[in-house]
Amino acid sequence: MPHRYQTILLFGAPGAGKGTQGKILGQVPGFYHLSCGEVFRTLDLTSEIGKTFMQYSSRGELVPDDVTIKMWQQNMHARTVLSDYKPSQDLLVLDGIPRNVHQAELMKKHINVLLVVHLVCPDKEEMIKRLRRRALKENRADDAKEEVIRRRWQVYEKETFPVLDFYSRQIVREVDAVGSPARVLEHILQHVVPVQESHFQNSLTDETERP
Ligand code: AMP
Repeated sequence: MPHRYQTILLFGAPGAGKGTQGKILGQVPGFYHLSCGEVFRTLDLTSEIGKTFMQYSSRGELVPDDVTIKMWQQNMHARTVLSDYKPSQDLLVLDGIPRNVHQAELMKKHINVLLVVHLVCPDKEEMIKRLRRRALKENRADDAKEEVIRRRWQVYEKETFPVLDFYSRQIVREVDAVGSPARVLEHILQHVVPVQESHFQNSLTDETERP
């Protein structure tokens, strides 16, 4: 499957810093960052899909897979057509998608996952604090309420965490998510730079997912 997007996944619980790190990485030439949650948040909230997003996200639930994958695909296509994202030059850095094993299955024909960076923060309460701080700063309804944050965590543990097992252990790297953004970035770069370099030097094989 030669036309799949060459991809790095930023993986981790809500509040682990995927968005922050993805944004920084996306500033580096050769990396293209896309946050699924951010794409949802920029939708017209009076449109059908915008309403669906609000209905689920305000409860801390996942938007149904068919809606999510279709929106993601259309969004990627638009960015490619506009040459904003150049698949032959840029490694795609995805954050917030795939969010469950079914999405990982559906995306298999679109992305070739070269690396999964798992941002690990052992202190759940610390991450919940981060979410509350961000909710105040960014006016995010989903993280403003304690019960919604807790629900997001439950969904992560039940539905999202198993996505790690979908990919070969060989391509999963654990990175300590505790520390300053610069320190966390330093650790992420140690893993992603070699992948980017080899990606542009060799044509990598596609066989990174488990059968
Ligand atoms: P995030 O900013 O990644 O935490 O996403 C915010 C909200 O957007 C989530 O709680 C979901 O309601 C929705 N969302 C984002 N990405 C996905 C996805 N891949 N699948 C389903 N829902 C998603």
